[in-house]
Amino acid sequence: MKDKYDVLIVGGGAGGIFAAHEFVKLDSKLSIGLIEKGKPLDKRKCPIDGDKIKSCIHCKSCSIMEGVGGAGAFSDGKYNITNNFGGDMANYVGDKKAIELMNYVDEINMSMGGEGSKRYNTVDSQIKREALQYDLHLLDAEVRHLGTDKNYVILSNIVEKIKDRIDMVTDTAVESIDQNKDGTWSVITESGTTSAKYLILATGRSGSAWTSKVCEGLGITAKNNRVDIGIRFECPAFIWDRITDQVYESKIMYRSGVTGCTCRTFCMNPKGAVVTENTNGVMTVNGHSYEDPSKHTENTNFALLVTHHFTEPFKDSNAYGEYIARLTNMLAGGVMVQRFGDLVANKRTNSKRLAESFVRPTLSAEPGNLALAIPKLTLDTIIEMIYALNKLVPGTANYDNLLYGTEVKFYNSCIDVNNEFETKYKGLYVIGDASGTTHSLSQASSEGVYVARIIAEKK
Ligand SMILES: Cc1cc2nc3c(=O)[nH]c(=O)nc-3n(C[C@H](O)[C@H](O)[C@H](O)COP(=O)(O)OP(=O)(O)OC[C@H]3O[C@@H](n4cnc5c(N)ncnc54)[C@H](O)[C@@H]3O)c2cc1C
Repeated sequence: MKDKYDVLIVGGGAGGIFAAHEFVKLDSKLSIGLIEKGKPLDKRKCPIDGDKIKSCIHCKSCSIMEGVGGAGAFSDGKYNITNNFGGDMANYVGDKKAIELMNYVDEINMSMGGEGSKRYNTVDSQIKREALQYDLHLLDAEVRHLGTDKNYVILSNIVEKIKDRIDMVTDTAVESIDQNKDGTWSVITESGTTSAKYLILATGRSGSAWTSKVCEGLGITAKNNRVDIGIRFECPAFIWDRITDQVYESKIMYRSGVTGCTCRTFCMNPKGAVVTENTNGVMTVNGHSYEDPSKHTENTNFALLVTHHFTEPFKDSNAYGEYIARLTNMLAGGVMVQRFGDLVANKRTNSKRLAESFVRPTLSAEPGNLALAIPKLTLDTIIEMIYALNKLVPGTANYDNLLYGTEVKFYNSCIDVNNEFETKYKGLYVIGDASGTTHSLSQASSEGVYVARIIAEKK
């Protein structure tokens, strides 16, 4: 790396990569460096092969969450074009601009290898009217489903396009930053120090603790009081076909009449697979699916998450979510799976019962009793929602459908930034999931584009 740049981007995930791509697209004369903690995209490989290595061996850098392409590199590539969920970008840039940016990101994806992938729409759908009869609220959204395979191709094409113009270093974690007397920013890594006038922190969820610490050290305020806890639900794909064929991803909200908590469906993967996710050593559950029909499974999975907001005196909502995930890990050695019927009957699912199940799990997880790990308030709300969904989609409450635990959506501290994602320090920007303003590919990428345009204009 050079000693000095005009712009330095920390983190090569959705936000960082789209910022870099926008600088190149604008043909900006700025000198730009990008520092990524993880590996180059083509070197990223999780060692779990289900054979020799069955569970997480805690690599120095987790190839699922870190590396060029960021947390979304091996994801399902669902780009939700909506202000209804996926982050609060619209609160900063306005509703219209936010949608415009997300459509722009979609155009780039289409021009870089995504052409032919489907864009679905839930607005004014018949399903929405039907769902409401059962107190289920289907949120309006458009979603582009790239699929894990196309998503990877697009990222590779973007990296190829920017590689000669952006100085990109990988396997290098930024350890600290410092403001120099002339207002520029020093960025310190184990291999040396470099500096820039403009510094964009785009470290995602995996680097959010680091970013929060850096901001705290600089006296930049942040707040966090939310965590979503739940399970990943899996059933035969034909049960949900009627919905997923029409809208692919349906974000459905349900407020329990008993607990008062709100539960929602999240990250729907028709004919997909359930996967394990490692967040800072804690094993949680997630899901994905491929566009390529030859890689389809016979099941559909989605998360059912209950949102918890905490008030004084408790502040650390992420620690609460982590604690519950750790409890599941302690009982199951990782992710736990249970049949819905066993859960309702207060029975542990054991290997024998799981083997008898008509639903074949797509993830090899330890059978157990989720009620031992997930708090009653959360679990009761989820069970109630499954029965409500069963009215809209008969078969959802079948005995053999599977619940994997624990799925946790951690919310990063919301860093205090202005409408341009600039902190109180001139030239220091925080974007994407690390800023707490997004938790989706679409919005993190859009913020990268937005900030790149602002900086290019300033110079
Ligand atoms: C399995 C999985 C599936 C998902 N599926 C979807 C989906 O279908 N649709 C959707 O909208 N969202 C999905 N998400 C969420 C989505 O991936 C994130 O919201 C998005 O990637 C956020 O982008 P980002 O740029 O803010 O952060 P990230 O993509 O997390 O990128 C941050 C990068 O910064 C690097 N970094 C961190 N700290 C440092 C440091 N100190 N120095 C240098 N580099 C650092 C990290 O290694 C990482 O590569 C999924 C997430 C996972 C894990």
